[in-house]
Amino acid sequence: MSPSLAAYESIVNSSVVAQLRRLGKKLEGRRVVHVNSTREGGGVAEILEWMVPNMRDVGVDASWEVIHGTPRFFDITKGIHNGLQGKPVELSKKDWMIYQDVNEENAARLRPVLEEADVVIIHDPQPAYLLQLCPNRKGKWIWRGHIDISRPFRPVWKYLRTIVEKYDASIFSMAEFAQPLPHPQFLVPPSIDPLSEKNREMTPAELSGVRAEAGLDPDRPLLVQVSRFDRFKDPIGVIQAYRLVRKVAPVQLVLAGGGATDDPEGKAVLEEVMEAAEGDPDIHVLLLPSGAHATINGLQRLADIVLQKSTREGFGLTVTEGLWKGKPVIGGDVGGIRLQVVNHHTGFLVNTPEGAAHRIRYLLHHHERIKEMGEEGREFVRENFLLTRHLREYLTLMLAIRSGKSERILLV
Ligand code: UDP
Repeated sequence: MSPSLAAYESIVNSSVVAQLRRLGKKLEGRRVVHVNSTREGGGVAEILEWMVPNMRDVGVDASWEVIHGTPRFFDITKGIHNGLQGKPVELSKKDWMIYQDVNEENAARLRPVLEEADVVIIHDPQPAYLLQLCPNRKGKWIWRGHIDISRPFRPVWKYLRTIVEKYDASIFSMAEFAQPLPHPQFLVPPSIDPLSEKNREMTPAELSGVRAEAGLDPDRPLLVQVSRFDRFKDPIGVIQAYRLVRKVAPVQLVLAGGGATDDPEGKAVLEEVMEAAEGDPDIHVLLLPSGAHATINGLQRLADIVLQKSTREGFGLTVTEGLWKGKPVIGGDVGGIRLQVVNHHTGFLVNTPEGAAHRIRYLLHHHERIKEMGEEGREFVRENFLLTRHLREYLTLMLAIRSGKSERILLV
């Protein structure tokens, strides 16, 4: 259960919460439906988990629907995801037909609620085709792209664009992802819930429990990357960086992640990671069950340095989570990581395993910098990447789009 908004007054100023309530009042009773493709696993589910109850808390009639699909559908949508993040992928006409058919099956179930809603927010490509299948829609439809589409593989975006351009507006996490589209585009970076199980404070006893369960040595430095097993998260690059550091310092590495129900590639990537880690007892590859929030929280808190060495990244909630826990983050110099890792302040941006190793060694030799950067990172998240800011921007956007004044607050 998500805490009530009042609980956040202990973390952000109470005027911030009061402002959310004022905005909510103007949208009282408005029906807002979020649609995505998984209830758990990955950043979108993580956000909707708090977004929907908090929208309700301020008076909006918010709900969350999840589309269902076959394994083939999720293979295809993972291909779309990879293509949008720049990987050359083959998608045939048949594949796009299957994509549309599965959306049609979901539309048959969801049409009444979607057509009646005042605002529909469709997350990512998987359910994007629903709009075309709801001809009697009353409300405004917004496409929320969460992935790094700064350099898409053109054929995939060319097709998806024909679907997305029919929306009333779209939302991206940063300006680099905006596309030539015939509607207003808003920039709203994601955020974390500081009171969730994933991010709440933990007791020393709880942390010892997580440490013991993962088999970690309390006396040696710890590097942690939490991610779905996805090639764009570059877990192999992380192992390479660890090995370079290991030559000079007795570090331990945790690569922790589970699957998302809409991500069929995880198993193959996990196997590659296991193979790369083989024989090194200080590389801990942890396959986590869904809902392992306290374990992830604990691992991030036990880390000396948090890594997120992605080669593409829509935003990277794991970066926000690490920063909030007072850890410097060494992250790939891509996508939304750039919004969060302020080079030399909240962490370091890197492009190669060698670059990551160089920064890890520097921090391990300058322990005072670990602490200073960690403190700076936590405040940076408090200012920019907590759910209160995120909710305010969604409410403002819904007000603007309702009154038709969205062009005036166009952020791109
Ligand atoms: N996560 C999780 N279990 C896992 C791996 C990741 O709960 O096994 C969470 C992670 O803590 C973060 C989110 O899933 O909150 C991942 O979001 P991010 O934006 O970093 O990446 P995405 O998976 O959406 O590409």
